[in-house]
Amino acid sequence: MSIDNLPPLRDVIRDHGLSALKSLGQNFLLDLNLTSKIARTAGRLDGLTVIEVGPGPGGLTRAILALGARRVIAIERDSRCVAALAEVAANYPGRLEIIEGDALETDYRALLAADERALIIANLPYNVGTPLLVGWLSVDPWPPWYESLTLMFQREVAERIVAAPGDDHYGRLAVLTGWRAQAHIAFDVPPSAFVPPPKVTSSVVHITPRRAPLPCSLKALERVTEAGFGQRRKMLRQSLKSLGVDTGALLEAAGIAPTERAERVTVEGFVALANEWVAMRQAGGAGRP
Ligand code: SAM
Repeated sequence: MSIDNLPPLRDVIRDHGLSALKSLGQNFLLDLNLTSKIARTAGRLDGLTVIEVGPGPGGLTRAILALGARRVIAIERDSRCVAALAEVAANYPGRLEIIEGDALETDYRALLAADERALIIANLPYNVGTPLLVGWLSVDPWPPWYESLTLMFQREVAERIVAAPGDDHYGRLAVLTGWRAQAHIAFDVPPSAFVPPPKVTSSVVHITPRRAPLPCSLKALERVTEAGFGQRRKMLRQSLKSLGVDTGALLEAAGIAPTERAERVTVEGFVALANEWVAMRQAGGAGRP
């Protein structure tokens, strides 16, 4: 499929010597049908601002631009790719800004105008995918500066993001995601779609932030999920002991049975635990977490 007048991605990779670097999690998508499908998962793009992490040779970037995004900000660590992306920028004058840098160190808010909100779309490098997601779900103030996240992960990570209580993959990541957002797996992508092919299947996840998550301190929620899932097979009256309060009283105040295990507690249950824990510490003079 031709979506623009630019050369096929195979030629871009050859001409710019973009041999894939494992250290940068480089598995490139060369099929513009597939990159268009990923970009469409984010919804309508016309006139909107998109932030893309790790554009690489530009397959997903080109799809996002062809679908009408007004402003695309692409953050890429590999200077070899930055040169290839300059050709994409020239084909879409004034619409693609390429930032050579580390997505983990980027101040995203500062890239946007005061009232500008962005969609994040990315085929993430696997080694930094989870920390990036946790960072985006942890931004303050909330609601965040982004409208949605459309992200490719390893299937196993995608399952940890969307897991429900009782699922094998349910843990801290699912609680954080479920508290602040709604997430679903849009579709899977087989290893054969990438160059070079990774060992495992990947999945595109679509995440929409909740306007008004249940009131709760992020730090407290992190602390109770860390304690609970740190010993996920143990009963909560045991696993929460590291919180330094009477765990029986804490569980009772949160309306959770002392014999329950973290893997079966809902997001609402963890929020209640976090709030009651903060209240007990304040009552005991320990202050905020
Ligand atoms: N978007 C391209 C595609 O779909 O073909 C490339 C995806 S590849 C899985 C991940 C990209 O992220 C690579 O281009 C890699 O150089 C880049 N990358 C890796 N670590 C990064 C980081 N910390 N910050 C920004 N980009 C990074």
